[in-house]
Amino acid sequence: MATLIKPVSGWGRYPVQSCEIERPERYADLKPSSPTLIARGQGRSYGDAALNENGHVILTERVNRLLLLDVENGILRAESGVTLDEVLNAIVPKGWFLPVTPGTKHVSLGGCVAADVHGKNHHHDGSFGNHVLSIELIKADGSRIECSPENHSDIFWATVGGMGLTGIIGEVTIKLIHIHSSQMMVRHYKTPNLEQIFKLLENPTADDSYTVAWIDSLVSGRELGRGVVMCGHHANDDELPFRIENRYNIKKRHAISIPFNFPAFTLNSFSIRKFNAFYYSHEGKKTSPYLTDYDPYFYPLDGLNNWNRMYGKQGFLQYQCVIPDKTSFEGIKAILETLTNSRHPSFLAVLKRLGAESKGMLSFTMTGYTLALDLPIRDQGIFPLLNRLDQIVMQHGGRVYLAKDARLSPESFHTMYPRYEEWLNVKTLIDPENRFRSSLSQRLKIGETA
Ligand SMILES: Cc1cc2nc3c(=O)[nH]c(=O)nc-3n(C[C@H](O)[C@H](O)[C@H](O)COP(=O)(O)OP(=O)(O)OC[C@H]3O[C@@H](n4cnc5c(N)ncnc54)[C@H](O)[C@@H]3O)c2cc1C
Repeated sequence: MATLIKPVSGWGRYPVQSCEIERPERYADLKPSSPTLIARGQGRSYGDAALNENGHVILTERVNRLLLLDVENGILRAESGVTLDEVLNAIVPKGWFLPVTPGTKHVSLGGCVAADVHGKNHHHDGSFGNHVLSIELIKADGSRIECSPENHSDIFWATVGGMGLTGIIGEVTIKLIHIHSSQMMVRHYKTPNLEQIFKLLENPTADDSYTVAWIDSLVSGRELGRGVVMCGHHANDDELPFRIENRYNIKKRHAISIPFNFPAFTLNSFSIRKFNAFYYSHEGKKTSPYLTDYDPYFYPLDGLNNWNRMYGKQGFLQYQCVIPDKTSFEGIKAILETLTNSRHPSFLAVLKRLGAESKGMLSFTMTGYTLALDLPIRDQGIFPLLNRLDQIVMQHGGRVYLAKDARLSPESFHTMYPRYEEWLNVKTLIDPENRFRSSLSQRLKIGETA
């Protein structure tokens, strides 16, 4: 197959590395023929998970056929390169929805399995892998294996959350959820500090199917962690307008494009502080429940093409960690304090409550709280700051999300992911020469035997 050597990056545009790209057209062409390789879906992981410096990267974007949609039982089988956008366009008009979705629909099914992604409903429904009925995996020797929670379950749970390192996911079967319309019923709660946000996220009366908190990461002192808790659910029949026509209508949104890299000074403490104050007051006003389409609700950033260019040429890092329940408040507070005392403002800070831990051996989620921060790379000072945050996360028993990572150390990874040895046993069995490698796996020494 023809290959092309070119510089590639993840969504954060850091690091940029030279990789040998292959783009198979058909499922039958997805053969591991190169010495080292990694699959890449839509490249929406932020760091180096879908890069393989000086090695092969297999793009799955053209291997994207929907194979089966069982509208009676809500079951979908598709090739791994299909995007969530394509899936939604097929299933919403028929009254079905994704059981779990990340904050962008421009991701592939394969990427969602490999990162075992979570959504705003994790506290109720767990991560993506919970809803996968089976996958077909293309192994290092070219053979294919169908695995599921019942059949070759060790390979299944090493692949769910396994960041593409067990093989290429060829096909995926998922169970969908039924919806009454394409509308969401949403409500916001303005909260003055972190204590109140935690109280609200734990309060069963405020709780909803989808719950997430936006945090103003630039305020400190008594207002530390002030924000807006946003709750929503798929609108029930009795919440829909009396005469709703085309209840499963998908309104097309016209995305605006960011045409060029913003200059480095655009996002600074001043502009971010102004934006946060505006957002806190504007979103905090939406205290009465309101109806909105699912698209802007789940995917607000998809309305802005190439929004990663706003962070300038040097790119940005997303730091996402989870801290277990028992220590979560102290841990998240310490992270926010460290951040507000630093000279690195975070443009976006999002807090979510997570439910039961995934069965994926390298999956990120655990019962507790996850905080995600977007940090522009303005200078090298960001790296020691994030190393300090890693220490706080580890002291509190948490971990950092590999799908967002570009700079964790191998030592920290091994402390954070205690099921690594179990995962390595499966990896060694199905990929004994460690051919499935990524820049992330090489940086963190994942897949290497001690
Ligand atoms: C705006 C935005 C919001 C996001 N919100 C969330 C969120 O709410 N929750 C969340 O969990 N994540 C979130 N993410 C992260 C994103 O969901 C994951 O990184 C996802 O894996 C990206 O899918 P992709 O197709 O772009 O995969 P890529 O970035 O191309 O690859 C990611 C990983 O999946 C592997 N992979 C991809 N396809 C295959 C395949 N066919 N076989 C084997 N391995 C494969 C790659 O090797 C790599 O390790 C968000 C990302 C963005 C940009």
